[in-house]
Amino acid sequence: MNAAKDTAEGTRAGDPTRVLVINSGSSSVKYQLLDMADHARLATGLVERIGERGGVADHAAALRQVADELDGQGLGLDSPRLAAIGHRVVHGGTRFTAPTLITDEVVTAIEELVPLAPLHNPANITGIKVTRELRPELPQVAVFDTAFHATIPEAAARYAIDLATADRYGIRRYGFHGTSHAFVSRATAALLGREPADTNVIVLHLGNGASASAVRGGVCVDTSMGLTPLEGLVMGTRSGDVDPAVVFHLERVGGLGTDEIDTLLNKRSGLLGLCGDNDMREIGRRMAEGDKAAQLAFDVYVHRLRRYIGAFSAVLGRVDAIAFTAGVGENSAAVRGAALLGLDNLGVTMDPVRNAVRGTGARLVSASSSRVAVAVVPTDEELEIARDTYALATE
Ligand code: ADP
Repeated sequence: MNAAKDTAEGTRAGDPTRVLVINSGSSSVKYQLLDMADHARLATGLVERIGERGGVADHAAALRQVADELDGQGLGLDSPRLAAIGHRVVHGGTRFTAPTLITDEVVTAIEELVPLAPLHNPANITGIKVTRELRPELPQVAVFDTAFHATIPEAAARYAIDLATADRYGIRRYGFHGTSHAFVSRATAALLGREPADTNVIVLHLGNGASASAVRGGVCVDTSMGLTPLEGLVMGTRSGDVDPAVVFHLERVGGLGTDEIDTLLNKRSGLLGLCGDNDMREIGRRMAEGDKAAQLAFDVYVHRLRRYIGAFSAVLGRVDAIAFTAGVGENSAAVRGAALLGLDNLGVTMDPVRNAVRGTGARLVSASSSRVAVAVVPTDEELEIARDTYALATE
């Protein structure tokens, strides 16, 4: 991140200040076109159901549709205003610890990481390949979900398993949602009127996927997701932490195969597994009607969250702020309130009125007397990727 290149100061009208951000997922491609001169969002869109009935055939077709949609708005990929394309890439392994200008060698290295992220990296790679074919001479940048967590010390990154086995298979805690944790930890410091370097923040990214991170002075020192995004908090459809012996038990006693267990823990667990719904709004409605399964799902979700808040308070020693972000974090006053209830001894005192007020911008929801500030900070992963991309492309 190069702060000096954040807004493209000194640029003139007509200069290439636009960045296209591509998030090529397993069954969808999301895109945003941003102008870094003023952070205006010029276009945004989504191609869904790739490879499914009623959707386009494959990622190549989806990206061609993106190019056509942009063309139709006079914002085509051939525009001289386009400075670069930024790609979200889920797994950077230990090889990529910062945003990286894409070359053939970089594509090969991302391909070599597919075993670590078989569900995610292949779609990211296809996105990169197709846009490189469409605009071969344009700078393209890979921004990794894992990169912000590369600073985690060995004590936090290592699992306590045989070292040689771990190293042989690349088994360690990598962490994910890094662009969001980076953006939100900095935005929280700004909200407090402090420098990131002087601010310790626990970031709680609670979307469909959910993760926590401990950020000391702008540097990530611990995170809840691990080798894959399955570890840590309870999520929409993922279990988060379980005793690894659950897997052996399901295999030996339940007769389930590896892929079945993978699907169970990633797609049929979490809130969905506990109550049949993974949308926190629906869970709230059901709880209001006295639904016991929905209440259990909420309680398990919040209990896990409190565990991580306690753990990361100890990891940081001094906590200046706790920041909630993403769909649940930004919108659910009930989750925020329950997660921080009775934590006055940790210096956390909520203001129930501020917490209940709905809003869109970054805001404080703690009492003025609270030693630890509690903030709601909308995340903006696209802007973060665009900043990183623009900084590298114009270096
Ligand atoms: P993703 O990880 O897919 O980007 P989001 O950050 O958009 O997810 O979060 C999606 C989740 O946010 C939904 O599953 C929903 O439970 C939750 N959510 C969205 N709006 C609200 C709301 N008003 N109240 C409670 N939860 C909400």
